[in-house]
Amino acid sequence: MHFDLTDDQRAIHDAAFRYAEAELHPLFARMDDDDWYPPDLMRKLGADGYLGLTAPTAQGGSGMDLLSAGLVAEAFGYWNTNAAFIWGPHENLCLNNLLRNGTPEQIARFAPGLISGETIGALGLTEPGAGSDALGSMALKAVRDGGHYVLNGRKMFISNGPVADVVLTYAKTDPSKGARGISAFMVETDTPGFSVAQTLVKMGWRGCPTGELVFEDVRVPARNLLGVENGGVGIVMSGLDIERAFLGLPYIGAAQRCLDLSLDYAATRRQFGRAIGTFQMIQSHLADMAVAIESARIYAYQALAACDALKQGEGGRGAIHRLCAGVVLNGSAMIARVTDLAVQIHGGSGFVWETEVNRHYRNARIASLGGGTTEMRKIIIAEELFRARGLRPD
Ligand SMILES: Cc1cc2nc3c(=O)[nH]c(=O)nc-3n(C[C@H](O)[C@H](O)[C@H](O)COP(=O)(O)OP(=O)(O)OC[C@H]3O[C@@H](n4cnc5c(N)ncnc54)[C@H](O)[C@@H]3O)c2cc1C
Repeated sequence: MHFDLTDDQRAIHDAAFRYAEAELHPLFARMDDDDWYPPDLMRKLGADGYLGLTAPTAQGGSGMDLLSAGLVAEAFGYWNTNAAFIWGPHENLCLNNLLRNGTPEQIARFAPGLISGETIGALGLTEPGAGSDALGSMALKAVRDGGHYVLNGRKMFISNGPVADVVLTYAKTDPSKGARGISAFMVETDTPGFSVAQTLVKMGWRGCPTGELVFEDVRVPARNLLGVENGGVGIVMSGLDIERAFLGLPYIGAAQRCLDLSLDYAATRRQFGRAIGTFQMIQSHLADMAVAIESARIYAYQALAACDALKQGEGGRGAIHRLCAGVVLNGSAMIARVTDLAVQIHGGSGFVWETEVNRHYRNARIASLGGGTTEMRKIIIAEELFRARGLRPD
């Protein structure tokens, strides 16, 4: 597939890059050092036009294609990956899923607050006992009671969960049907019975609140059901494909930042009377980093462009499923290697907590876990390879 960005897409990236340098980068060190969540961040992003990128302009959004929004994610990841991973779950996991699956009435009710940043969004799929087997082992139940569904259970590792106003929550509505008995709900967190059990202390993504959420007889109006009852699996699977393609972009930005910092360091740090960038082994590291980043970037752009063509309910199977799993598999290996080499080039300084490459090194560890682990991505790819050839090994 030939791939090139349009002039508009380049302009979107460049504007976001300058914006993130000015507005997001100054927050990065404090977020990481103090596990500080910037309370005004989302309202500011909303006021400055960086929320609702893929929402139609008629709904107050920017009407961008997914790839253009991904270029913003890349720019944010370059200057402040932690801010990117507050913004991304809100923008993509919650808002984009609402836009793709909500009724006009639901979109009119929830989208304006999410686009202005007045309300914070999250997505709750994982549970304490349901990680890689999120659908099969899901225990959170929703039982219909008149005009409401009553939700009971827990969600775990939910990005933005501790600060969210609305959580796109998956629940079992018909446990006898397994994965085919799951539904999606827009749950407002001021509903009685909803609470945050804990905010987790993490080695990376610091300042991005990640938490365990509790649902005790939470009465959710039936009009907050997203899609049809027991139709949640389609929303999960297509949403996961887009998430995998989209949330790889901040890592491309972070990796590029590590390469740029390493180039600067290699050009100025002197040993044996010369800049370390004159040593061929350091040059080899820099070349490996650049090639890994460039190939991951092209692969990720290709996946996002393919996701743009997805219609409602599509995705979660076939070539696009394999492509998105492949992009995140490749991207997570890329960011692990690039951040490791960046620390290596920085020598002892790279081991110091407060250096920027160290921050990226710690952040990179989540890339092979979140949104489905490396092992699950490989399972998806292998299954789709067999399926494409009509084979079923048993
Ligand atoms: C910082 C952070 C943010 C997150 N944000 C969100 C969010 O916003 N919303 C949300 O819903 N979830 C979120 N998650 C959850 C994330 O998607 C899960 O952590 C992930 O899917 C893995 O689940 P688990 O942690 O329960 O691991 P487990 O499923 O318990 O897996 C443990 C290990 O066993 C392996 N394993 C499991 N099954 C198999 C198998 N069949 N074959 C081979 N190996 C296997 C796994 O690959 C892994 O190595 C987040 C997690 C983190 C850490």
